[in-house]
Amino acid sequence: MTHAAVVGAGTMGNGIAHLFAQHGWEVALVDSAPGALDKATTTIRGNLERQVKKGSIPADAPGQVLARVKTGTSLDQAGDADLVVEAASENPAVKFTLFEQLDRIAPASAILATNTSSISITEIAARTRRPEQVIGMHFMNPVPVMQLVEVIRGHATSDATTSSVMETVRALGKVPVEVHDYPGFVSNRVLMPMINEAIFCVMEGVATPEAIDTVMKLGMAHPMGPLALADFIGLDVCLAILDVLHRGLGDDKYRACPLLRRMVAANQLGRKTGRGFYSYDSGKRE
Ligand code: NAD
Repeated sequence: MTHAAVVGAGTMGNGIAHLFAQHGWEVALVDSAPGALDKATTTIRGNLERQVKKGSIPADAPGQVLARVKTGTSLDQAGDADLVVEAASENPAVKFTLFEQLDRIAPASAILATNTSSISITEIAARTRRPEQVIGMHFMNPVPVMQLVEVIRGHATSDATTSSVMETVRALGKVPVEVHDYPGFVSNRVLMPMINEAIFCVMEGVATPEAIDTVMKLGMAHPMGPLALADFIGLDVCLAILDVLHRGLGDDKYRACPLLRRMVAANQLGRKTGRGFYSYDSGKRE
């Protein structure tokens, strides 16, 4: 496989395109918003320059890597892809429509992967005529730094598709872990209840956000406390994933903390709005 199409050039899409191009793939990076493509190219260039400064890639690599990334707004660019990685907005309607279109556009042999954090791979696959070739490739943010790719098998995903994607992830220098398609997969099924419980601790006055994060950092060797992590992910995203877990698994242990719901209603979404459990001044924690 040598041709990848990455659909969605936001936070995740630019990192995924960068990774594939750096490992020699020709990449079509598609976004419906032209502004997102310009921003993605600038981000990829900046990240490549940083890699040169750190000595992790040679000085002539950025030009070569960037030359392998072709940007555009048309999904037709996926017409010669061996592998499509969809990283568009986390909205079921957007993803269902994209997979119906990609199924028509991509070669019959192509694997269609989605980077969704919480939408059912099985439901996405059912929108196509090739559900055995649809799979989850859940990259972590920031893509260049994080080692894990959670590889999620939908109900119909074939062994051949799974092993091909596992092998591709390894060739990209990441570590794949195979999981099955249940709400939240493994990553968010385990992470979000911890974040939610930390928020209940704030709401009930058990301790301050700083104290809770310090307990988890120094006591449990977590590199980041759960509340700082929630601010980083976005409190709206955390709430949406908890709602998926609650609905999909039907167990009240996944009930989102009312304080989380209230903060989202107040538009205190974490880093992206400058205010969450902490206040941020030009991206820095105060
Ligand atoms: P983002 O909002 O930064 O980027 C999404 C991009 O998709 C935008 O540029 C938007 O213009 C584009 N888009 C929307 N509809 C489109 C369409 N029909 N065709 C082409 N482009 C379209 O989002 P993100 O944070 O990069 O997340 C992308 C996906 O990755 C989501 O499914 C999300 O759940 C998942 N994810 C995000 C993170 C994270 O930490 N941000 C981590 C893991 C997985």
